[in-house]
Amino acid sequence: MNLKNFALYQTQSYVNGQWIDSESNDTFEVVNPYNGKKVSDVVNCNGKDVELAIKAASEAFKIWKKFTAGKRSKILKNWYQLQVDNADDLARLLTIEQGKPLAEAKGEILYGASYVEWFAEEAKRNYGDTIPGHQADKRIVTIKQPVGVVGAITPWNFPSAMITRKVAPALAAGCTVVIKPSELTPLSALALAELADQAGFPPGVINIITSNRAAEIGEVLCASSKVRKISFTGSTRVGKILLKQCADTVKKVSLELGGNAPFIVFDDADIDSAVEGAVASKYRNAGQTCICSNRIFVQDKIYDTFIEKYSEAVKSQKLGSGLEKGVIVGPMIEEKAIASVEDVVADALSKGASITTGGKRSEPGSLFYEPTVLKNAKPDMKVFSQEIFGPVAPVFRFKTEEEVIALANDTPYGLASYFYGRDYALIWRVAEALEYGMVGINTGMISTAVAPFGGIKESGTGREGSKYGMNDYLEIKYMCWGGVE
Ligand code: ADP
Repeated sequence: MNLKNFALYQTQSYVNGQWIDSESNDTFEVVNPYNGKKVSDVVNCNGKDVELAIKAASEAFKIWKKFTAGKRSKILKNWYQLQVDNADDLARLLTIEQGKPLAEAKGEILYGASYVEWFAEEAKRNYGDTIPGHQADKRIVTIKQPVGVVGAITPWNFPSAMITRKVAPALAAGCTVVIKPSELTPLSALALAELADQAGFPPGVINIITSNRAAEIGEVLCASSKVRKISFTGSTRVGKILLKQCADTVKKVSLELGGNAPFIVFDDADIDSAVEGAVASKYRNAGQTCICSNRIFVQDKIYDTFIEKYSEAVKSQKLGSGLEKGVIVGPMIEEKAIASVEDVVADALSKGASITTGGKRSEPGSLFYEPTVLKNAKPDMKVFSQEIFGPVAPVFRFKTEEEVIALANDTPYGLASYFYGRDYALIWRVAEALEYGMVGINTGMISTAVAPFGGIKESGTGREGSKYGMNDYLEIKYMCWGGVE
């Protein structure tokens, strides 16, 4: 494994401050997507193991919620610092199980850690209100209290940051957590647990259940009346299942689901900067992020110039092992993912699109797909309506602002959107008209702990990060004091 701090390499689940095996003794394999080789066997938990984790979290909640905000903040800061101090090792582990280039992996670790730092600070600002009473003897006060035990289910595309983004606000609020990381990338989650242990969280505050029985674990978390909130990042399909499963116990839910981001370039845009933004927002993580631009719309006059410059920039990206220097695009996560990309590209070609660069699998491994640009993309193609989740950029031509707004909003998704232009009135009109939770204006990079990340429509509900992020883990209680004569 070649880590400086070998304690970060853990393969058991973490429950109540202990590394545990499953009661079934089962394990599953984690594989390196670069070469298909086994990285390790990891404990495969079942429903009974989750029950134990929920019990531990529920007991720990009684203690953790009573810690002063300052004390919780201090432990969160320790955890943040440990993540920063161990960033190189955490990045290496992440690249080995997930495939993304090391520099990107390190970026994710520091980005993930920034949520822990942010919410360590926000923990101390969990203010309530005093409200002028509605009758002469009445006094009204609100306080915010932690919702309780939180079940967090996270995906493989950001194995570390999707955990800290949920867990940091939950812990800051005074909640305790049971985390189920993706079965494809559990090692990054377990490394975070090891650092949490060192940071000084009491046993049971953070629990990690590794498992490839996702549906079973999800059902137990959703059915438990002790779990008061589910926070999920992943596909819209699974998000809908969880939302339904949470109905019986009327849980709070935060869902960060799929996207179909438009990336619009208007005639008056700075083309070079739009090209740069479109490359950054499309090919990061080999196109496997929910805020990757999915549909690039370019206005008529500059369409051909944009295609030419964009294809040139895309072509120069080096593919390879994430551990190799200079590599920009790593492997895709699994065969299913690359097959789906092949399917949407074949569909586009059959309906009149053409390839300006890329368009096929590539060396150096079976999960590599060349960064691809599709010219003359049209709305009847799958690439218009389907989340591509791979390194393929379809470029559509449009004539008017009205037309492109209608096209951009013609999707059930509403997560990220981007556009490039210079006219300030156009910028306001378009930013307000886009039915998305996030809008990047003259930038392709929008993620930061200081801003509220989240979507509308079928892209989800709730916000992560910013001064709003902790609210998802808090209940407002209102106290009405009477008889104050
Ligand atoms: P992706 O397409 O990004 O893999 P998924 O929604 O399939 O997204 O997976 C995201 C997370 O949801 C993973 O941790 C996965 O194990 C988990 N998951 C998958 N199916 C279910 C389910 N039926 N119930 C609960 N969790 C699930």
